Amino acid sequence: MPAHTLPTATILGYPRIGRRRELKRAVESYWRGASDEAELRATAKDLRAATLARLVELGLPAEGGAIPDSFSFYDQVLDATLALGAIPERFADISGSDLVTYFALARGDRDHQPLEMTKWFDTNYHYSVPEIDERTPFGANASALVERLAEAADQGIETRPVLVGPVTYLLLAKASDEAGEGFRPIDRLADVVAVYAELLRALAAAGAQWVQIDEPALVSDSLSVSREETLALVERVYAELGAIPVGERPAILLTAPYGDSSAALARLGALPVEAVQADLVRGSLPEDALASGALAEAFADTQLVAGVVDGRNIWRTDLRAAFATAERLKNAGIATVIGTSNNLQHVPHDVADETKLDARLRSWLAFADQKVAQVATLARGLSEGAAAIEPELAETERILADRAAAPGVRIDGIRSRVDAVTAEDRNRAAEGDRRDAQRGLGIPELATTTIGSFPQTAEIRKARAAHGKGEIDEETYEGFLRAEIERVIRLQEEIGLDVLVHGEAERNDMVQYFAELLDGFAVTEHGWVQSYGTRATRPSILWGDVSRPNPMTVRWSSYAQSLTERPVKGMLTGPVTILAWSFVRDDQPLSDTASQVALALRDEIDDLVDAGISIVQVDEPALRELLPLDRDRQAAYLDWSVGAFRLATAGAAPGVQIHTHLCYSEFGEIIDAVDGLDADVTSIEAARSRMDVVEPLGDHGYSRGIGPGVYDIHSPRIPSVEEQAELIRIAAARIPGEQLWVNPDCGLKTRGYDETVASLKNLVSAAQTVREAA
Ligand code: GLN
Ligand code: ZN
Repeated sequence: MPAHTLPTATILGYPRIGRRRELKRAVESYWRGASDEAELRATAKDLRAATLARLVELGLPAEGGAIPDSFSFYDQVLDATLALGAIPERFADISGSDLVTYFALARGDRDHQPLEMTKWFDTNYHYSVPEIDERTPFGANASALVERLAEAADQGIETRPVLVGPVTYLLLAKASDEAGEGFRPIDRLADVVAVYAELLRALAAAGAQWVQIDEPALVSDSLSVSREETLALVERVYAELGAIPVGERPAILLTAPYGDSSAALARLGALPVEAVQADLVRGSLPEDALASGALAEAFADTQLVAGVVDGRNIWRTDLRAAFATAERLKNAGIATVIGTSNNLQHVPHDVADETKLDARLRSWLAFADQKVAQVATLARGLSEGAAAIEPELAETERILADRAAAPGVRIDGIRSRVDAVTAEDRNRAAEGDRRDAQRGLGIPELATTTIGSFPQTAEIRKARAAHGKGEIDEETYEGFLRAEIERVIRLQEEIGLDVLVHGEAERNDMVQYFAELLDGFAVTEHGWVQSYGTRATRPSILWGDVSRPNPMTVRWSSYAQSLTERPVKGMLTGPVTILAWSFVRDDQPLSDTASQVALALRDEIDDLVDAGISIVQVDEPALRELLPLDRDRQAAYLDWSVGAFRLATAGAAPGVQIHTHLCYSEFGEIIDAVDGLDADVTSIEAARSRMDVVEPLGDHGYSRGIGPGVYDIHSPRIPSVEEQAELIRIAAARIPGEQLWVNPDCGLKTRGYDETVASLKNLVSAAQTVREAA
């Protein structure tokens, strides 16, 4: 039996934005200057106290470190940057409190570009990327962690501070612009580990019994070092940290969320840490090591936190299956704790808040609070025996059976249509034939366009909200949107863009808009999930077979086209992105669900074309995001995801030009898949990296249309004509002009009109300048 033991129920983290996004409002009010730091801190403190009380109420023990302190004002990686004192040199002139520095790194200001943001593993959460170089100063700053520990103790709760681990931190960091040639952030591992040792000592001195250190890098094949190297680094680091005697440091829970750590698990168990967590939802148990007793031997002095409750979706856990997994570990002689697969930050707070949701559907769901309760139930079964929780197990079984048999979950007509899909249905005419057929569109070289959305003004948001609440009738709303479309069309004509858009004013969100119009989806009222900082999204719930009862976008696009001689792009969200940004059913392969969504979009494209639209853009910004961390699973993923896009688009006649948009520029890994989409034109982000992506595309011999963004829409800055022209020239040096399109990096919905109009005018002039020089 291990000497230091966690209680048998724990979670890896809990949503921190607040049930009603209280933290978002408090932070944004502070940013606006409407409240001061003391007020912000007070609100955050109340929120934390409420969270801790709630977790105890849901069944986590108050004592013994079962409750993680996973609070963050903005981002857990940024928290680590502050805790490590790793403030990039370029922010050295910022003065003020820690919080002032913190938000300056997160958001930048007039004189500082913020830290870059990028996706956290295969989630839709974004973290602030640390910038490290040879001279990055490191020094422990445990004050925030210690303060919260004391605050919880005052409330009678022994929390477990949570830190992103040193290996993951450095593998997710980027070399700063000042770094020397060949420098890798991970080269600073020894320095960083020394600071972690100091942080651990400070936490122990402040009374922490346990600390949680997250090393999701352990499950990823998408980092700059191989998984085996990551594991070797983790072994080295935790041998060192573990060598500090418990007492001088807290007991350590080392976690490996977001994927499969089975191949590494025995080695992790053998480390001198007190507990190791494994994600047993995405991952599996190492069956051989379990059978041979090697796993039990490795875990002789270590607890295993079995991540059997899924922290990535919103479905009620199959308690019987989860319990069986935990019992197998326990019966093998391993000290087992029930846990979640990962931090619950990726799920909303509480199903009980969804009073408008169909009661039957609601009974199938589990948000964070329900998951915590499930963890507590399973833990009770583990300590008191299965009989103690048999009523809960039986109840879950009944509900899961109800879900499987409910109307709408499986619809024969939809299934037979998917079954009838042939390879032909995913193929368009040859690229060259399409090019010829599309000449009639009259699109010039270096054609200018935008990605779809125009600024979403307060007026638009107000009208949409009023319509949602039934305060304005259908006709008034329709009239408002038509006026908005007309305004955006005239504006684009005046700016001189070649291919126009309708502006997407009717869309609250590029996925939810479609989810609301498709059958098989439900939308929540309060199901907010943090996307980054104070931004949250409300993913829809894809619970049943998907179909399209009515056209979804034709009204707006055809109206826009009726107003102008220039081509207007129809604008759809692709099947992969619709899945990625929704909570999807877990009772069938994603590929099956994707085919259903693809067929609905295919019908929509048909209708758009019938209504006179000749260019359709199908956005897939999430294509890269869903790429499995596990290399062995990547090919299968790319196969079905690319297949779904093709199924959605391949019904279009050769003369119809299909565009796609991918938000990011890092697609070296998936360049073949991007090619495989077989879109006629692909727009991508490129301005911030100054066209880094065109080189690999050029080398790849990419033959289709490509629009590397020349205007960074993430910032209010107005890029000059010369600046944008320079980027076009860089691209044109690598990619023939007839393939090149000129567009911003992404949609304009978060920008203001003044900067948008000025930037787009410059964009059009830049294209003109380069065309004339050719
Ligand atoms: N068409 C969408 C827009 O312009 C694309 C957004 C995205 O890629 N995230 O807003
Ligand atoms: Zn984008």
